[in-house]
Amino acid sequence: MTHISEYPGKLDLDNCAREPIHIIGKTQAHGVLVSVDPENFIITQVGENATQFFGEAFDSFLGKDLTYLLGEEQMTGVVELLNSEEISVPREVWINNIKFLMLAHNSGLNLILDFEPLQEVDSSYHFQRQLTRVLNKFKASKSVDQLCNAATILTKEMFGYDRVMIYRFDEEWNGEVIAEIKEEDMGSWLGLHYPATDIPAQSRELFLKHQVRVISNVHYTPVPITPEISPLNEEPLDISRSGLRAVSPIHIEYLKNMEVGASLSAAIIVKGKLWGLIACHHKAAKYLDFYQRESCRFLAQMFSTELTLQENTALISRAKLSENIRRQLVVQMKEENDVVTALSEGNVKFTQIISCGGGAIFIKDQWKLIGNTPETKQLESLLNFIKKQPKNLFWTSKLSTLFPEANAYKEVASGVLCLKIADYKYIFWFRPEQIQEVNWGGNPQAKAFYNEKEDRLSPRKSFEKWSEKLTGISEAWQENDRDVARALRENISYTLLAQQQKEIEALNTQLMEANEELKLFSYGLSHDLRAPVRGMEGILAILDEDHRKELSEDGQALLQMSRDLNEKMNDLIDNILEYSQLNHADGLKVETVNTSELIGEVLKFVNVEGSYPKTTVKILPELPSMEGDRGMLFQLWSNLLNNAIKYSSEEENPFVEIGTEQLKGREVFYVKDNGIGVPKKMKKKIFETFQRGVGSRFKGTGIGLAIVKRIIEKHHGEVWLKSEEGKGSIFYFYIEI
Ligand code: ADP
Repeated sequence: MTHISEYPGKLDLDNCAREPIHIIGKTQAHGVLVSVDPENFIITQVGENATQFFGEAFDSFLGKDLTYLLGEEQMTGVVELLNSEEISVPREVWINNIKFLMLAHNSGLNLILDFEPLQEVDSSYHFQRQLTRVLNKFKASKSVDQLCNAATILTKEMFGYDRVMIYRFDEEWNGEVIAEIKEEDMGSWLGLHYPATDIPAQSRELFLKHQVRVISNVHYTPVPITPEISPLNEEPLDISRSGLRAVSPIHIEYLKNMEVGASLSAAIIVKGKLWGLIACHHKAAKYLDFYQRESCRFLAQMFSTELTLQENTALISRAKLSENIRRQLVVQMKEENDVVTALSEGNVKFTQIISCGGGAIFIKDQWKLIGNTPETKQLESLLNFIKKQPKNLFWTSKLSTLFPEANAYKEVASGVLCLKIADYKYIFWFRPEQIQEVNWGGNPQAKAFYNEKEDRLSPRKSFEKWSEKLTGISEAWQENDRDVARALRENISYTLLAQQQKEIEALNTQLMEANEELKLFSYGLSHDLRAPVRGMEGILAILDEDHRKELSEDGQALLQMSRDLNEKMNDLIDNILEYSQLNHADGLKVETVNTSELIGEVLKFVNVEGSYPKTTVKILPELPSMEGDRGMLFQLWSNLLNNAIKYSSEEENPFVEIGTEQLKGREVFYVKDNGIGVPKKMKKKIFETFQRGVGSRFKGTGIGLAIVKRIIEKHHGEVWLKSEEGKGSIFYFYIEI
């Protein structure tokens, strides 16, 4: 709980923004604040100036019913009003022969009633005319400048303040007077800047919330509310929403220092953010009643709306312009293979899309510079600094304050907008230094000092014009600039991606071509070899049959070796041809094949009974039929069966079994043998061409399983094996066409 007695407490010099202005337990003097219990309308707290306005000692009202103050007659409508949802509707009431406007609002458990003496009310016709004039004047304004001038003229006309200004905030909440109308005898403040600390964050928040704030007499004596603490919730009364709320002593002193007697401020809000203020000063005291404040609120709102429109229109035309340039860049990127060339050497350059003095692209360790930029070495170091920033978009209009090294090239790059497209891909835009002579309303460095006597902060005393040369600053980057950069990133990323895809496709085609060539080569080679090898076979056969006896024993052995080698060569060529033809064959001639029949043919071809009389081959009954190319399926079975029979032939009771099994959620074929088995490390390798696991103990070329694998792949199937060295093997496969 905060006690009012804590205020004004000793404040931190660096943080005068901590001032608890919403619970300053005092009011201004031009009206009376009364707080009641909404349950029964018993008066719980009252401003001490009630004595002067209501004609009776203020404390005599405490604990009394509101009827005591308003009388039975006025009370009837008021009770209904206060019980209704429309509590904010003002009500005119008479007290002590004075006409007041009663304004009600809830504050926690309290119902606060502001009683403001009512001045002559302008006729509603007059009001209407005023508002129509505001609308027309604003609509006729063609630029933000014209609009601001119209607003100052209208405000002065309507409310009669000595000085009316439009005060605009910059990104850091410093303010600048951008339009002004004033009495002739007053000095002009047009173009003066004020530091952000002059209107601290919490005051700006209140402006955003309440929009219009009137200080009717800077020289007033704040009126205490009695009792200080609300008996309803045991807390200080929150009067932040009351128009009578007293003013922070710091602000009063600030206004006094500026020789202001009364002020009016109305918030200009654009897209939910405080854009600026219509700030009015009067030399003497000046009070605006509720109706006038409402007119002012209306004017400020119309102004805000019109301003939003104007800013949007300007934004749209700027956006259209950069959109056109962006489109053109996209076209260039499509036409030109290289993104950097497309962005920097076409008719339109990336530096045109955002207003800047120069730009740089960094892609694949290469820099491309356009216009006025730092040197490559300096850019390298800047890039290292930017890489450490957390976001993909980095911007500043005061580079050297963040990165002191940049002071060396502030003339060309006080402002930087850097877009990260991907790792090692960045685009920069640079803005040159714009030396500005800023005229401050007082020295901005002399913000506030600690006031020993009053035990609180005091605002600076001097409001003399104070000029400062600002260096190392560029024109600020706008939201629109950043949006444009982000949109461009999309385009560039897309182009880079498309390019990469193209490169991959080109590589792929090359690879395929190379593969094709290789296949043709091996096919051609084996084809060409076939004739001489067959020829040699014939010659060796004749030699063997007709001249064997003429040869010595050694010669006969050599002849036999030559015939064996020749046979092996023959097999090899046949196998290679088979394999290359497989790669060669375009389409499969798919048909339904009776598997048992096919296996029967294969076994006949292998001549098991003749060549391997010891081997038992068992074919499980009812094998499912197969869908595929009959010729290829024959090769498939014959290779698997050949191997099974061959590699089990040295066993005592060679045994081969063919059947199916449910595996991997489907019915798969298997060929099982009790032969030599496959060592673990060979299990994958044996499906590659020329990979043999057995040396010369068994005849073979090392191509059979490669053919099996290729055929199965062509039939969208899979082949694998289960085997242990010395304990036989099972080859599983399925096809799925
Ligand atoms: P090849 O049988 O002509 O050597 P394959 O490509 O048909 O060529 O087989 C490759 C290798 O796989 C063989 O050398 C052998 O080591 C191994 N292999 C194939 N089938 C079996 C099997 N049923 N039992 C044991 N090893 C086998």
